[in-house]
Amino acid sequence: MQAKRSILVGLIGAGIQSSLSPAMHMHEGEAQGLRYTYRLIDLDVLGRTAAALPELIASAEREGFAGLNITFPCKQAVIEWLDELSPDARAIGAVNTVLFTGGRRIGHNTDWSGFAESFRRRMGDVGRGRVVLFGAGGAGAAVAHALLTLETATLVLVDTDRFRAASLADTLCRRFGAGRAIALDDAAAALQGADGMVNATPVGMAKFPGLPLPANLLLPELWVADVVYFPLETTLLAEATARGCRTMSGEGMAVFQAVGAFRLFSGVEPDADRMLAHFAELTRR
Ligand code: NAD
Repeated sequence: MQAKRSILVGLIGAGIQSSLSPAMHMHEGEAQGLRYTYRLIDLDVLGRTAAALPELIASAEREGFAGLNITFPCKQAVIEWLDELSPDARAIGAVNTVLFTGGRRIGHNTDWSGFAESFRRRMGDVGRGRVVLFGAGGAGAAVAHALLTLETATLVLVDTDRFRAASLADTLCRRFGAGRAIALDDAAAALQGADGMVNATPVGMAKFPGLPLPANLLLPELWVADVVYFPLETTLLAEATARGCRTMSGEGMAVFQAVGAFRLFSGVEPDADRMLAHFAELTRR
């Protein structure tokens, strides 16, 4: 019998002990006949900050890691320690997957492709004339790249930090064309005539309960997507469903970013449906 191929990867971030990435990757690795190890490199546990990145990356490389996932608060900070970026990671300005290959460190962003794949599957047929995106942070930048790549005509950005929204709109217009993204302060004005909306703020997580917009703006014609996935059914999604809106949870983005990272790390095509089913099992527990 042939020995199983070994793949060692990890996740660098702060406060990542409850991450589902190790379970998702190792379950799929096992099913693919690989000896797949996924380690958590938790800055909080190590008592370190993002300043430890160069040291942590070098040591992973030395130990023969195939690559690393990168999460909060390192997705931007990691860039200066890489040799190369994929065109999408460069455009978004954030990296969630680093691949060690041929002595080089290559940064990728599978958050955007994860959202795009999830959206294509669940919302492929919805209107995209005007879409409102709440939250212009890290997740917002990836979702915006996905929505404009998926031919949203006008993307309206709303962020409590108006400078962040304006600056992301600016970057997106340079990349996708003038007028494709605009920033507005007022949620009601932003949603005027909108086909759908995405929440990419942390509002809806246990730590930040509530809604990112007044509930009465959730008209039944609007489709509503959330990227928050702890919990999967946020107050926003529950409220939107009750008001008759079509909805999509953050589950797909979480799974498909892992599908993309697994493909990069292993060079093997993961079974996305198996990974979705496993994630559902993990979150039902
Ligand atoms: P971030 O801090 O980089 O950005 C959040 C942005 O939301 C900030 O610019 C903030 O000003 C803005 N904001 C906060 N409250 C707001 C409100 N009420 N209205 C408008 N804007 C508001 O955070 P992030 O890294 O972008 O993460 C955001 C969320 O996305 C988190 O809950 C995270 O768990 C989730 N996320 C999910 C996935 C997934 O795979 N499903 C991937 C990445 C991030």
